[in-house]
Amino acid sequence: MNYSDKEITRIEEAGTFSELPDSISGVEHLEQLNEWDIPPALKDPVSKEELGHRYFRKDAFWQKIPAFSNITEEEFYEPKFQNRHTVRKVEKLRQLLAGYVDDSFIEDVERAMESAPMSLSVSPYILGLIDWANPYADPLRIQFIPVQGRHLPDHPQLTLDSLGEQHDSPVEGLVHRYFDKVLFLPLDVCPVYCRFCTRSYAIGADTETVDKVSFHNTPRQWNEAFTYIASRPEIEDVVISGGDAYMLAPERLRYIGETLLSIPHVRRMRFATKGPAVMPMKLLKDAAWTNALVDIVDQGREKGKEVVLHTHFNSASEITEITRKAMLLLFKRGVTVRNQSVLIRGVNDTPDSMIHLIRKLSYMNVQPYYVYQHDMVQGTEDMRTSVRATVELEKIIRGVTAGFNTPLFVTDAPGGGGKRDVHSYDYYDQVTGISIYRSPSVDSTKLYVYFDPVDTLPREGQLLWEDPTLHASLIQNAINQSGYTALTRAQ
Ligand SMILES: *Cc1c(COP(=O)(O)O)cnc(C)c1O
Ligand code: SF4
Repeated sequence: MNYSDKEITRIEEAGTFSELPDSISGVEHLEQLNEWDIPPALKDPVSKEELGHRYFRKDAFWQKIPAFSNITEEEFYEPKFQNRHTVRKVEKLRQLLAGYVDDSFIEDVERAMESAPMSLSVSPYILGLIDWANPYADPLRIQFIPVQGRHLPDHPQLTLDSLGEQHDSPVEGLVHRYFDKVLFLPLDVCPVYCRFCTRSYAIGADTETVDKVSFHNTPRQWNEAFTYIASRPEIEDVVISGGDAYMLAPERLRYIGETLLSIPHVRRMRFATKGPAVMPMKLLKDAAWTNALVDIVDQGREKGKEVVLHTHFNSASEITEITRKAMLLLFKRGVTVRNQSVLIRGVNDTPDSMIHLIRKLSYMNVQPYYVYQHDMVQGTEDMRTSVRATVELEKIIRGVTAGFNTPLFVTDAPGGGGKRDVHSYDYYDQVTGISIYRSPSVDSTKLYVYFDPVDTLPREGQLLWEDPTLHASLIQNAINQSGYTALTRAQ
């Protein structure tokens, strides 16, 4: 929080008052408090820093990028500008940042892209928020731009579709794993591409190393998924993810929303999007899109059905005055917004960074819903945390704010077990980093195994993984220790 006063929105005066703040004078109901003595406090005064989540950047942060130095707020807020200047090639990154960041950094990115499973795509909004004086440590750089210098070898047990989504797909682009809810993936493009994407098996353009499965992208092809949903009366809950609903034209968004609302047994829908975190101005400027969303929410409410938006903010540095305005607009128009984060090393894995994020989201009426243990995704070993570290963080987070704004820390169990509370493992060995979960309502015959990143293990554990001939027995040993030897490991 080192912005100057004019660079932030002063939502309200921070700190503890020895006198009542000026801001109450003239306020009906509050002015009468001036007649009362302030009761002695039992708690220490709070500092401005502790209330830092109430401050939202409103400086022209993008103008620090040489190529954007003349771009006005009006231009920058245009979704067209954001789309046109989204960085999809390292060469473009080099051009935009010429003279502003070391060549060695760009070369490091170039080397990383040769083996990255995700294609590159970074919005100008995100580009402008990265601290280019220290890109290696920046939480936005870590999420969107790979560098070879920080690369760690993948865990030996890692696979590309670690969640086994392709096994639970009755039709392409639909995952039916749980009893009453489905995951609908209507498209395979996003406004940005996240290095840590679980669906790197499908999302984004083909890369040097991955030939993608393709999800369908037109209403005619979605009908197969709708027909399946309509034929399964137990389905009450549809998550629309992707890809990213932000990339759907308003009429397509409306078509999906209205079709699903018209299926009598569908009671709940969530549109999941990274958009508000990486291009919040679209909600303010693209009225056709925002109106389509609000319209589906209203139609749902009329029918007694819940339609909400799920965002994907991972760090407070993604949130600015533009975001605040966008979230306020949705709140005023009656859209419930919840957030799902991925726990990422260097981004939000310290108590300070996670508490700051949670408070900031809550302040904008965005409800922190989940924090995901980082999936085992190719090329992202530097971003994962150990189960031990996550459980410790969870312990600290519970209690800092309202229970309904306290996220659940979950692991999406590798092999298709679905979401499990991170701390609900049936067995965990901190030396080998092996944790074992059961998921009785998904499949009571299976065990699901997650592996901590090798570099976070004690030396003794790291040595065990260096010897491939030991791997099978390490896992079998963990299963024996768990006591669930009658169950089989899901893969
Ligand atoms: C996450 C997920 C859902 C939704 O789960 P909730 O716990 O209700 O948020 C549904 N289907 C699949 C396959 C999922 O991964
Ligand atoms: S926005 Fe979501 S689906 Fe798209 S790349 Fe990022 S994590 Fe994956």
